[in-house]
Amino acid sequence: MVEVKEIVCVNPATLEEFRKVPNCREEDVRIAVGKARKAFDRWKAMNIKDRINFILKFKTYLTRNINEVVELLSTEKGTTRVEVILADIFPTLEVIDYYSKNAERLLKRRKLCVRAILGGRSYVEFEPYGLIGIIAPWNFPLSIPISHIVPALIAGNVCILKPSEYTPLSGVEIGKIFREVGLPEGVFEVVTGDGVTGSIIVDYVDKVFFTGSTATGRKIMAKAVQRLIPVVMELGGKDPMIVFEEVDIDLTTSAALYGGFFNTGQVCASVERVYVHESIYDDFLRMLVDKVKKIKVGVGDVDMGALISPAQLEKVVEQVEEAKRRGAKVLVGGEKIETLKGYFFEPTIIVDVDHTFKVVKEETFGPVLPVMKFRDEDEAIALANDSIYGLTASIWTKDMNKARRVAEKLEFATVMINDNLNAFSIVQAPWGGIKESGTGYSHGEWGLYETVRIKHIREMGMGVKHSWYYPLSGKYEIVLDALKMLHGDLRERVSGFLRFMSKVKGVKKL
Ligand code: NDP
Repeated sequence: MVEVKEIVCVNPATLEEFRKVPNCREEDVRIAVGKARKAFDRWKAMNIKDRINFILKFKTYLTRNINEVVELLSTEKGTTRVEVILADIFPTLEVIDYYSKNAERLLKRRKLCVRAILGGRSYVEFEPYGLIGIIAPWNFPLSIPISHIVPALIAGNVCILKPSEYTPLSGVEIGKIFREVGLPEGVFEVVTGDGVTGSIIVDYVDKVFFTGSTATGRKIMAKAVQRLIPVVMELGGKDPMIVFEEVDIDLTTSAALYGGFFNTGQVCASVERVYVHESIYDDFLRMLVDKVKKIKVGVGDVDMGALISPAQLEKVVEQVEEAKRRGAKVLVGGEKIETLKGYFFEPTIIVDVDHTFKVVKEETFGPVLPVMKFRDEDEAIALANDSIYGLTASIWTKDMNKARRVAEKLEFATVMINDNLNAFSIVQAPWGGIKESGTGYSHGEWGLYETVRIKHIREMGMGVKHSWYYPLSGKYEIVLDALKMLHGDLRERVSGFLRFMSKVKGVKKL
């Protein structure tokens, strides 16, 4: 196979080529890693307030140059500028805000409450890992990597980012902004390239934060195991929306369209399966289809843009064609849009499908909503949980008791009641997946603690000689008394304490 030296950036909505970036290989990765490792000690030693200052300057730069950044992302992704603001810029600013206000407090050395019998004091300290590798997808090429970069840098790590080959310029832009605001050289490095580049990075870093497909996540995890380095995996989803009978149908159909078609359905937390109570199924579908017919697809100020690549378009076509072949009914959409130049697919509603259809079982990542009906609460829960994925789910009802009851039984990392998609923007909350949707977290304190090693420091004063030092012979009764003193019933605790204290010598407190 011929090695591609450069990656050509193409606008997926117009197919215009607009820039090229290098397809980096081992030597390039090695140079970036060298620079980052060299920068680490000084960056780690810097006061956390100073590190936060750089991040705040990033925010100022971004807000002052918002139009250019939005234009770049929208061109690179082929989606609308409104979507870029909502899903890339807004969460980015929220992440910066949250960590710049909270990270210092959360990363403070923490004293632990320990057993007096062990003496001394215990603390935990949070230490940066060193070099964090961030391998990012194309669907939100700013807000996803930033969710890892910001806490990692504030915690004192240095970072290397490998953006997707479909959106490398967004990654290059992050690097440019950090340079503009004077971030010391090497603290943040961007290496553009394809999957091979990403794979090489795994060989050099101290921890990997990967966001992307479950298939790639598996490969990265297998590689990380060889070096026993930790990973955070934010992977695919097949998120259900459960619509109970007592909803406002107008609101809920609008929410289904937003959840299913935002960013052309290319969101890990997209609504990809809709389950509607049988009593409102027909009315729900009628209104949904009417609204889909009004969606404007294309380039510029439209409702929905293009898919990212020919491969993504083919995947959507294949799932819809399989469904059609097997007797599913397409109520609206269902075809590529040949009149537009880019990778466009019609917003699509499909019915008469079940869990044996690819479009219901596999991640689609396109503007296709299969809608199915259910009889009762138990069936809705069973259908929603019948998936290898566990990213997000949403429940729609006016009955909050029912909603909370169902939420408890859903096997998803995030469950939303009368809301969907927006959980990623609530950066105070943990974001992660269960089952094949991933492991580990971003956002909130949980995302910050993923970027640090948690170190226990135990302090004892010199001169404390524990009663369990050698010789151990003849000490059975003492240790038994100690055990009873700590874990027996009330009578044993008191008698154990008295016996233990009378036997023990030489245990001094600090
Ligand atoms: P991919 O898995 O194709 O790629 C993700 C990143 O990994 C890209 O930078 C890619 O490079 C790189 N990569 C590819 N192969 C390897 C490899 N062998 N070793 C290391 N890196 C590699 O995902 P997509 O970019 O297509 O993103 C879409 C997927 O991401 C969907 O499944 C979606 O659900 C998931 N996702 C999950 C999120 C979550 O929070 N759980 C959020 C957003 C998306 P290149 O692009 O150059 O091939």
